[in-house]
Amino acid sequence: MTKIRVPHEPHTMQPAVPAKRASRQLPVLPLVRCARCGLPETYETIEFDAQGVCNICRQKEFKDAQIDWTARKSQLDELVESYRGKHEYDCIIPFSGGKDSTFTLNYLVKEYRIKPLVVQFDHGFMRPNLLANNERTFRKLGVDVLRFTPNWRVVKRVMLEALVRKGDFCWHCHTGIFSYPMHVALKFQTPLIIWGEPSSEYTAYYDYKDDVIEEVDETRFNRFVNLGITAEDMAGMIASDFTFDPRDLTPFTYPNVRDLRRLKYRSVCLGSFIPWDVKKNAELIRQELGWQGDRVENMPHDLYPYEKIECWMQGVRDYIKYLKRGYGRVTQMTALDLRGGRIGKAEADRLIAEYEGRRPPSLDLFLEYVGLTEAEFNEIVQKTAVAPFEPDFDAIRPGDKTPDFDRWYRER
Ligand SMILES: [Zn+2]
Repeated sequence: MTKIRVPHEPHTMQPAVPAKRASRQLPVLPLVRCARCGLPETYETIEFDAQGVCNICRQKEFKDAQIDWTARKSQLDELVESYRGKHEYDCIIPFSGGKDSTFTLNYLVKEYRIKPLVVQFDHGFMRPNLLANNERTFRKLGVDVLRFTPNWRVVKRVMLEALVRKGDFCWHCHTGIFSYPMHVALKFQTPLIIWGEPSSEYTAYYDYKDDVIEEVDETRFNRFVNLGITAEDMAGMIASDFTFDPRDLTPFTYPNVRDLRRLKYRSVCLGSFIPWDVKKNAELIRQELGWQGDRVENMPHDLYPYEKIECWMQGVRDYIKYLKRGYGRVTQMTALDLRGGRIGKAEADRLIAEYEGRRPPSLDLFLEYVGLTEAEFNEIVQKTAVAPFEPDFDAIRPGDKTPDFDRWYRER
């Protein structure tokens, strides 16, 4: 395993990429790509068929043509009715405040007059516009809300550990988001948990073709949420240089499955029961709740104002993905639109060339939080690059700040 050096004093910020490189064009990355949506071979779970079309595009064809959405909707009706009025709440709705969870909450409250407990796991980077959206949504819909924020000292340390081990610092957020609501389900003895979009929209871990409802359970948690690192593993990894109470990691631990089974829990995604169209969903919550999109670092705002507005570290996450895998969020978004026939290939390529491969200004904050220099950060990320992609740090150009940049938390 990589030896981790944990700096005790934060290092001074590194200068941004020198301006002389700013105009340099990105080289065309020599990766095999889906003939339809452009996703590259370094994408998680991707496979290409004889026509060069990826399995995620094929899932979409299946979803559009062969899923009986009327039957699926009836299944949801039955599910909701079978749990209604029997517990402290009809269901738990895990809620980030992004377009998917906001749509889910809005839909369930209006379509079913359900009484939910909204559970929000605070990852530490909620942006001002998101908080304003949340408050508006909760007031307009009239719902009970539970918000949980884990220990920031612990969050910083495990972000560094996950970055070094896996090149992915979001371990605390992803494990917390998916495990904390399950703890709440047990505490409130509320067995039905309803999430938003199913993972089969984006990856092939689960397949629409299997025609089973994807359960958001421990199997799924261990398959692709926790990066193969349990909270117990994490405790062992940080124990030599970090003082903490073992209970500090409880919010990132999946609860005992026997307890969940005893509760007769069901943990499902609304998007398994009704067709999921992010653009339509975002427009609907804008109209009905006044939900506002936001600028996100290195994303074309005019086209995707609703995407990943939850977290001010999103720019760093996307940047790391680019350095590891040779693509970023723009590629993912244009892939969805290419699949849906809403954009042309030339326009997608233009957007990718313009917006990807830029250094997000939020990287300065991230380095401050975890106590790394940029050179150390680059070295760590380079080690986790997914072959055949290799990052070219000299080709990186500076990205633009978002308007709320100065309001994000600083350590000093
Ligand atoms: Zn594809």
